[in-house]
Amino acid sequence: MAKRPTMTTSAGAPIPDNQNSLSAGERGPLLMQDYQLIEKLSHQNRERIPERAVHAKGWGALGKLVITGDISKYTIAKCLQPGAETPMISRFSTVAGEAGAADAERDVRGFSLKFYTQEGNWDLVGNNTPVFFVRDPVKFPDFIHTQKRHPKTNMRSPTAMWDFWSLSPESLHQVTILMSDRGCPQTPMQMNGYGSHTYSLWNDKGERFWVKFHFKTEQGHAYYTNAEAANLIGKTRESYQEALFGSIEQGKFPKWKMQIQIMPEAEAEKTSYNPFDITKVWPHAEYPCIDIGYFELNKNAENYFAEIENAAYSPSNVVPGISYSPDKMLQARIFSYADAHRHRLGTHYENIPVNRPKSPVNHYHRDGQMNTYGGIKTGNPDVYYEPNSFDGPVEEPRAKEPPLKISGDAARYNHREGNDDFVQVTALFNLFDAGEKQRLASNIAEAMAGIPVEIEERQCKLFDQVHADYGSSVRAAIAKLKASS
Ligand code: NDP
Repeated sequence: MAKRPTMTTSAGAPIPDNQNSLSAGERGPLLMQDYQLIEKLSHQNRERIPERAVHAKGWGALGKLVITGDISKYTIAKCLQPGAETPMISRFSTVAGEAGAADAERDVRGFSLKFYTQEGNWDLVGNNTPVFFVRDPVKFPDFIHTQKRHPKTNMRSPTAMWDFWSLSPESLHQVTILMSDRGCPQTPMQMNGYGSHTYSLWNDKGERFWVKFHFKTEQGHAYYTNAEAANLIGKTRESYQEALFGSIEQGKFPKWKMQIQIMPEAEAEKTSYNPFDITKVWPHAEYPCIDIGYFELNKNAENYFAEIENAAYSPSNVVPGISYSPDKMLQARIFSYADAHRHRLGTHYENIPVNRPKSPVNHYHRDGQMNTYGGIKTGNPDVYYEPNSFDGPVEEPRAKEPPLKISGDAARYNHREGNDDFVQVTALFNLFDAGEKQRLASNIAEAMAGIPVEIEERQCKLFDQVHADYGSSVRAAIAKLKASS
């Protein structure tokens, strides 16, 4: 048998005995000089890092993005050129639950993708829904507080959720998807992913196009009813991890078709809705989905913590040929996601192997905790500022995107004025068959159980404005539930 490796301290010294601590006499006490024991205990104390404030519970895997279509007229992005194959890692998640939450809970699912391109990492940090609850980021922390635990009871509060939603009509679109069948997918493989925000692509002529990214499941959609999910959670809290991890271990690699919708830059002025409003979709009839390729997940992480928990996705990570849009929620996430990782993982989180680009990294940031980057590797110690005369890394003009055209005065614009919060929800409601409409109403009634009647009614009045049947079916489901309890 091959000789087994020697166990060592973190400083590399051989450990002579990992079964018995060092004591003064057989019965103790222990000695301070047993630094191996002290190192072991102190590491255990530091095993947990700050949990993500949102999207704490997650599941992920590695794979590849393959481009089969030709969208070179829209973008210079190397990873989007015909035939490009790009290694990637994904992380799916629920939003509200903590790291130990059950997987099969009704919640929006995070759908985060990191592509290790030839020109840096491109992160798409989306959801399994094409829209979001709020359109102005100033409302985001308040919204999340309503989804988390009440400060006194330490329990989640349906009153807070419905109070906030009923006072925020822009949430109706996302609330309707959340309470519909797609609000509780059976596994991460059986849901779509959406970039959700409007981003932009730009080409070698300096033209910008607005773009939406879509990832359509090739496994088919499948959902749990509330009763099925409750039953499953009673048996296992890890159903998503079991399904995704198990499928990949068995060589069944899940796939998603990648599609884009494209809007010429000037058309953004003409649409009847604000195309940068994340509570809206772009209707397919106006902006058809174009097939451009697929991604496949084909490898489980070797170490969940190192690769999935440490994976840090941020919409700030774009690469030449791909950029942002004026979407206010996107603009705020460009700051807040990278900042969350600096807090959670440390200043140099992009140097952790799972986050480290596979293309060269040459920046002039210096020092800081856990800096293992160690400066620019030119062999010349004088290269530590810019500009310099010592052949240090320089700018790449090809990476300069076209100017973002902006008009308007700086002001706090009322995001509700002139914004229709109902038409697209009506279109969605009309897509549901009778069975899904009935499940929608009963899911909402169950989620509202115990909240004050005036909040219940305020929310039902919003449903009335989507469709008379929506309001009336929810009222009937509430009455039925109250009568049976
Ligand atoms: P379409 O009829 O062309 O598109 C409807 C889309 O709705 C489908 O392509 C599908 O999106 C999605 N869908 C179908 N059944 C369900 C369901 N049971 N639950 C949730 N989504 C479903 O019309 P529009 O493009 O005009 O959109 C109408 C409404 O559909 C929108 O207001 C929006 O609520 C919803 N929707 C639209 C999307 C878009 O990007 N336009 C994307 C997703 C939903 P998919 O192909 O992505 O599965």
